[in-house]
Order: sequence, then C-alpha cells, then structure tokens
Amino acid sequence: MNFLEERINKDGIVKAGNVLKVDSFLNHQMDIALIEEIAREFKRRFHDKPVTKVLTIEASGIGIAVFVAKEFGVPMVFAKKSKSINIDGDMYVAEVESFTHKNKNQIIVSKKFLSADDRVLVIDDFLANGCALQGLISIAESAGATVEGLGIVIEKGFQIGGRVIRNLGYHLESLAIVDAMDTETGEITFRDQSAQ
Ligand code: 5GP
Repeated sequence: MNFLEERINKDGIVKAGNVLKVDSFLNHQMDIALIEEIAREFKRRFHDKPVTKVLTIEASGIGIAVFVAKEFGVPMVFAKKSKSINIDGDMYVAEVESFTHKNKNQIIVSKKFLSADDRVLVIDDFLANGCALQGLISIAESAGATVEGLGIVIEKGFQIGGRVIRNLGYHLESLAIVDAMDTETGEITFRDQSAQ
C-alpha cells in the first residue's frame, strides 16, 4: 500500500452516491506535507516529459497543481468555472458537467496563458466519469498545445473516466485507484498498481 492509499484508508470517508470524502487532508483542509509528497511522485512519474505548464480546474485542483508546478519549475494555470454566456474571443472554452454538484459549467482559460508551444501536464484531485479531464484536454488542444500527461490523485476505477482517457491514448497516472468502496462498512479496495 502506498503513502496515499494508507492515508485514504485512515482518513477517507465513503459516502453514498459513490463519493469519497477526503476533505480532512486533500481538498478542504490540506495536509501540505502529503501534497508535497504527491507532487514529488508526479514529478517522478512524468520526469521525462518536457512540461512547460501545469493545467488544472478550480477549485480543488489548484492547491495540488501549485506544488506540482513548483516541482517542474513551470507556471500553473487553472481553468475558471464561468456561468456567463458572453465569453469573448480571448478565451478557450469547454463545457464540463460536475460529478459532485451535478451541474454544468463552462470552463475558461485566457488565450494569453496557453499556446501551441506549450506542453501541458494536467492535474486534478479526482477522476470519476472524466468530464473535468476531457474539458481540460479540450482547452489544451484548442490552444494547439500538447498534452504530455494527466496526473490524478484519486481515480475511482469503478467509474468510466480512467478507461475513456486511457483508450484515447493519453498517458494517465493515478496515484491511487479505488476499485470498490462499501458504504455500509466503509471498506475501500485499491487496485494493485505494483506491476506497472
Ligand atoms: P469527473 O469529471 O471525472 O466525473 O469528476 C471529477 C471531478 O469531480 C473532480 O474535479 C472532483 O472535484 C469531483 N469528484 C468526483 N468524484 C469525487 C469524489 O468521490 N469525491 C470528491 N471529493 N470529489 C469528487
């Protein structure tokens, strides 16, 4: 069991509706020593990629992506959620359906901050159905940038996102993959990634 799986086992809470709550250490209160370790692990897994920018989505991706960007020595850009329909031509736009809030948002990134020269590492806290990642990929590709890889802290392997993104040919690394969670007992089963 890796450091993150141990922490999820200790402090993660299984909620109804396939939601795993990790707000005591990852996406509300943040354990900075843990986030630094997560960032070092992403750096280790993507060390051979010529990353020029780390891209994430507000809100909970930001705190993690900051530390990853620091490891790579590059800027971090986060896509903003916007309800406005009057988005001007200076923005890249994608539509994302939120897994946790069940609503649709447009996400936007200013054209000033992503270009065809960029080689992007996409970072997020969770991967469920893959909408957030697909939106970020779409934004990077609208800019003509190259998606070098995608780094996820917790993938829920029983939802479809991971399979979809890998089938599209992207290099996706998830530090913990939850294959099952039991709402009754709170038991969490992780995928064995040691063979990779
Ligand atoms: P997707 O777009 O892949 O369906 O969902 C990913 C997004 O939904 C992430 O950005 C994350 O914020 C949120 N999310 C999805 N599943 C969970 C979960 O089990 N727990 C928490 N805390 N957030 C989740």
